[in-house]
Amino acid sequence: MSHFPEQTEQSRPTHTVEDYLMTMHVLERDHGEIVAARLAEILQVTPATVAMTLKRMQRDNWIAGRGRQEGVHLTATGRAAADSVVRRHMLIEWLLLKVLKVPFLQIHAEAHNLEHAISPLLEERLVDILHNPKFCPHGNPFPGCEAAAQQWKPLAELPAGAQGVMRRLHEFGEEDQALLKFLHDNGLMPGAGIKVLEVLTFNQTMTLQVGEKQVMLGFAPARYVYVE
Ligand SMILES: [Zn+2]
Ligand SMILES: [Zn+2]
Repeated sequence: MSHFPEQTEQSRPTHTVEDYLMTMHVLERDHGEIVAARLAEILQVTPATVAMTLKRMQRDNWIAGRGRQEGVHLTATGRAAADSVVRRHMLIEWLLLKVLKVPFLQIHAEAHNLEHAISPLLEERLVDILHNPKFCPHGNPFPGCEAAAQQWKPLAELPAGAQGVMRRLHEFGEEDQALLKFLHDNGLMPGAGIKVLEVLTFNQTMTLQVGEKQVMLGFAPARYVYVE
């Protein structure tokens, strides 16, 4: 008999909780607030579902806070669990891309299904076989490697005439399959050289030179693209 009856339940979050933890990791990393409305929007579930899950997560000590309107934050346990699922997700993306040759457009969605099943032993083997990557294939930093991505600027903040190399598509951009396909089809992927040709503030768009192509992009998706 354990002296800590909560412990077994605590040791491994459910799939749903892991999905929440991953989103919370991204929000906290980006200095955003974790509020129920934002979670509902990102995870595409109803506010009632979010409220229920947050209550359970608070009971199980993954998060703490003053309630759904006030915002919550990850506890130390919650943060460790969140870092772990983010790491597993990113490692699986590399495994799918490099080893299993899954097309780039599919790796994020496929990784979402597999990330929950990875044991600490498999995680260790993946780190080894993939040579301890610092970024996911989309350029998002592994937990603990955030500093390496700090200098990269959102494309939406660049003026006409600026140029650079695309380094990263933010996690919330990975989630948007239509955006991902558009960027991919137009060569806007990590490593691509980009020049800002024109910025139309009234229209909320920018025109880019990407290789041989001219591409028009709205400010909203351009906030998910980071350039060095
Ligand atoms: Zn992903
Ligand atoms: Zn990724």
